[in-house]
Amino acid sequence: MSRPAWLLSSAQWFVLMIAVAYVGGMTGCQPAESTPETPAAADHDHDHDHDGHDHDHAEQGADLDVDNLPELNTPPPLDSLDEGVEKLVSMRDEIAKGFADDDVDSIHDQLHGVGDLLGQIEEKVATSELSDDAKQAAREAVETLFDAYGEVDAKLHGVEGKDYQDVSEDIDSAIETLTNKSSS
Ligand SMILES: [Zn+2]
Repeated sequence: MSRPAWLLSSAQWFVLMIAVAYVGGMTGCQPAESTPETPAAADHDHDHDHDGHDHDHAEQGADLDVDNLPELNTPPPLDSLDEGVEKLVSMRDEIAKGFADDDVDSIHDQLHGVGDLLGQIEEKVATSELSDDAKQAAREAVETLFDAYGEVDAKLHGVEGKDYQDVSEDIDSAIETLTNKSSS
């Protein structure tokens, strides 16, 4: 009893589906005829959107990104050369650990951050009370670190560079130089 009823309703449903498909096909045909208009309108919208986006990006780039991002990305100013060297030591350790664990992705940002920190340290060295000789040695150490970390980063980017273990001794001894200068 329920079976014929199910068949019936199923058959009705089938007819309905056909009708829907047919109507759908019909209505589907109408936009297809006006195809030349629709894509043209879409293109216009798209261009407008695009211009708008580009504009937004350009404005952000000028008003927000350029002014704010360096402040956000750049570490806060150093209170002292000591503080900078302390930070450098902990970054060196994190980066060294990343290479030791073969988890370079986790420390790639730090590797870029070292450049900013080295720049700050360089400034602190210049305005420090260190003797000229000590300043010179500290500047050379900073240079060595720039080069060493730069080579390592270059290699991560597929450019000719060096493995971390190839420069780790240079890095360690340069940081030792800075540690001695800053605490003297
Ligand atoms: Zn990099």
